[in-house]
Amino acid sequence: MALDPRPSCKEADGEVMMALIETLFPICRSITGNGLRQTLRVLQDHIPLRVCEVPSGTKVFDWTIPNEWNIRDAHIARLDGTRIVDFAANNLHVVQYSRPVDATMSLAELRPHLHTLPDRPDWIPYRTSYYAENWGFCLSHNEMSRLSDDEYHIRIDSQLAPGHLSFGELLIPGRTSDTVLVSCHVCHPSLANDNLSGIAVATMLARHIGKLQPHHTYRFLFVPGTIGSLAWLALNEHEIGRITHGLVLSCLGDGGSLTYKQSRRGNAEIDRIVAHVLRHVGEPYQVRSFVPYGYDERQYCSPGFNLPVGCLMRTPNGEYSEYHSSADNLSLLRPQSLAQSLSVLQQIVSVIEEDAVYRNRNPKGEPQLGRYGLYALMGGARASDLDQLTLLWVLNLADGAHSLLDIAERAALPFWKVRMAADALVATGLLEPELVGA
Ligand code: ZN
Repeated sequence: MALDPRPSCKEADGEVMMALIETLFPICRSITGNGLRQTLRVLQDHIPLRVCEVPSGTKVFDWTIPNEWNIRDAHIARLDGTRIVDFAANNLHVVQYSRPVDATMSLAELRPHLHTLPDRPDWIPYRTSYYAENWGFCLSHNEMSRLSDDEYHIRIDSQLAPGHLSFGELLIPGRTSDTVLVSCHVCHPSLANDNLSGIAVATMLARHIGKLQPHHTYRFLFVPGTIGSLAWLALNEHEIGRITHGLVLSCLGDGGSLTYKQSRRGNAEIDRIVAHVLRHVGEPYQVRSFVPYGYDERQYCSPGFNLPVGCLMRTPNGEYSEYHSSADNLSLLRPQSLAQSLSVLQQIVSVIEEDAVYRNRNPKGEPQLGRYGLYALMGGARASDLDQLTLLWVLNLADGAHSLLDIAERAALPFWKVRMAADALVATGLLEPELVGA
């Protein structure tokens, strides 16, 4: 039994996602370490996520799982002990993967290790050095301009040691092994739109699909960027042939309009479905072709895999000024943007799940619609949801060769309307599912 196909966008969902994001925001995540584990544990309160641990040193294609990084504290202090830059106040203050340091040094020696955004003098940048051993601090340009002592005390109480890379995976089995991959990155510290919005929307989408008894199998991945998706691909190479659709989710909570970046194939079914759903949202949107830059679609769409995986965003990475800075914080997010992003994904899932081919059982001439009580059959549906033209389109194109999505595209109608008309016509006996392979 199909759910009510009419799209809905629930304000309450936006509030639930905001609450989850507020819980996760203060945690110092990275591509490995306890902040990442803590994040996955919080998600386990919402969905039955399985956490996988991959040992440091494991080869994943051309890469190697790095040492695990953990950090307790860090600061730049005056020699009298006053802290000027304090990790406890904002976890962006330390360059991720900084090695431990405990030293007194001159301002001249310190300067090459300081990172600021001169154009945005109040903001703290986000910087990483995962694969080259280094250390550094990020601070606002204004804070740096105020440094005038000859010497400072620097301490980074971090640990870089063999450990594990953690990622979360949720498998929702379907009636077939055809698999839909949904992936988001979980490796950024206190950044809201880039990282937490995708995590929250993916979590709610997983909860939604968990209630569906879906036809497809769904595999949700919560992975550290690049190295996490590579680790998953390396460990699951035998599963990859089953992936029929996939989406990377990121930057879904800002006030910008929706952007879909197509898979490398450009003509995969997911590319067509997302473009169709966006066309009928009734708001501006963009569809862009694939470029080998961005999020984990870079790995899923590398030539050795070439998976049908696109990327759904609002304002893309690097195209909003707050990107990778302390200004990508909770105030950038809008609950209604999160809720609408989720609603669009639910519509995408309903097309993936419910597209099918039907056959008109009365193909010679139009059936005399008035005799079939079609309007009464729709029960509580608004009359405008089931108009005669939609019924006629379905009857005309349901020839065993066109799918409901084909019909929706040809008739310039939203999929859900065509789906509703097909259900009504099946109930009257005018339409029957085309048996696959018959
Ligand atoms: Zn990022």
